[in-house]
Amino acid sequence: MSATERQIVKLARNAAGNDFKRVSVLSKAGTLNFEGLISGSTVEKVSSLDSVTEADLIVADKILVADGLVTKEGLQGGPLDMFLLYALTGLRTGGVLAVREDLAKGTNARITLPALTDYVDVFRRDIGGKYVGFDFYCAEQLDSSIHLESNYLDFVWILRKKEFTPPAADAATVTFRDFLDKTQYTNTGIGAYEWMFGKDFISPGGYDENIRVLEQFGGFEYGGKMLDIGSGIGGGVRQAAAVYGLHVTGVDLSANMLTEAIVRVHDEKESRVNYSICDAVTYDFGENVYDYIFSRDCIQHITDQDALFKNIYRSLKPGGVVLITMYGKGKGAWTEAFKKYNDKRFYHLQTLDEVKERAIKHGFEAVHVENMTERFREILTSERAHLEKEKEDFFKHYTQAEFDSLFNGWSDKLKYIEADNHNWNLFRARKPA
Ligand code: SAM
Repeated sequence: MSATERQIVKLARNAAGNDFKRVSVLSKAGTLNFEGLISGSTVEKVSSLDSVTEADLIVADKILVADGLVTKEGLQGGPLDMFLLYALTGLRTGGVLAVREDLAKGTNARITLPALTDYVDVFRRDIGGKYVGFDFYCAEQLDSSIHLESNYLDFVWILRKKEFTPPAADAATVTFRDFLDKTQYTNTGIGAYEWMFGKDFISPGGYDENIRVLEQFGGFEYGGKMLDIGSGIGGGVRQAAAVYGLHVTGVDLSANMLTEAIVRVHDEKESRVNYSICDAVTYDFGENVYDYIFSRDCIQHITDQDALFKNIYRSLKPGGVVLITMYGKGKGAWTEAFKKYNDKRFYHLQTLDEVKERAIKHGFEAVHVENMTERFREILTSERAHLEKEKEDFFKHYTQAEFDSLFNGWSDKLKYIEADNHNWNLFRARKPA
């Protein structure tokens, strides 16, 4: 098997949690054949999947563009539905569909990557009396294409067949990824945020503040391995690679966010950087892999903090350091406005004490927590002043509604700080050597 085949098999195994016996490959190019793994069949036509039953793994290799299911204009709904239905019918529950597609050829990656990710994540159908769809595991760059061809747009989607409960008729979004992409991190929202925070960043203070935060690691070993959780449009990932010489994996659950990061790295060819669209709570990063784990203002989005801390601890090398900044909560009674803000965003805010207790419970040592809310207040005040001063430039790109949303959002946050509701916290700890 080639390295690409090995990467796909590893991801599919991690998603399924077990090994495969019945494997089918759908391939016209014939570049992937999984020799030594296949006991099933290699077929060329989507309709040939008709004969596949109870498969553990179906791999579709470069079929979507070749068969016109994905074009430069976007996705072709009918044929794509047909393909996904064949795949769902052919897989056993818990089986995995791996879809490999090189978005550098015959597609516009900026459109296709988020659109296809959304399509497969929310696709659900009644099949044989069961409401089934795919549990989205990841959409990940293929390493070999990065290193051998400087192609950062060759992807594999890993999707696990699962039975779901039908959603309520009035549900606006289907999954948490769908929620992130349709509410806080729409393309317009991301653009306006980036205008506010500064190029490549969706976090307070932009480039300069991120350097100050990275310096809190206390130094880096040149060439070390870093994981950036919730890496957004990639500013922190590229900074850690370009300034400190680290090899950085950026992960983010928002397809809109990570698409921006990926399209930018494809242009820049920064080969110390790679990305995966995935949920940092459920993705298997492996054991003892990273020297450093970093996260800027992401984990307030995550409900299951214990699962997250467990995953971080497992994937850090012994002696490795984790450093996280996050939106947190203070000691003041919550105002009605703060409650509404928190409910709308589905935030899971913690106090510094809660973070410290959790870190100790999961086995970390040298646990350091720090309240950075005063710094947050300074940054918010200066970013809001910048927006007012440069509004002419802002209106060249965005509307009055977007201006109001940012201006009021920043003003509201300053009020939440005043009431000691909203905090900005830092946490750093080490996995025992
Ligand atoms: N760290 C980036 C920066 O500094 O520019 C982006 C910060 S943005 C405020 C928070 C990011 O966390 C979003 O891009 C969001 O999609 C991501 N996120 C939320 N929940 C996540 C999860 N479970 N796994 C991975 N990323 C997640």
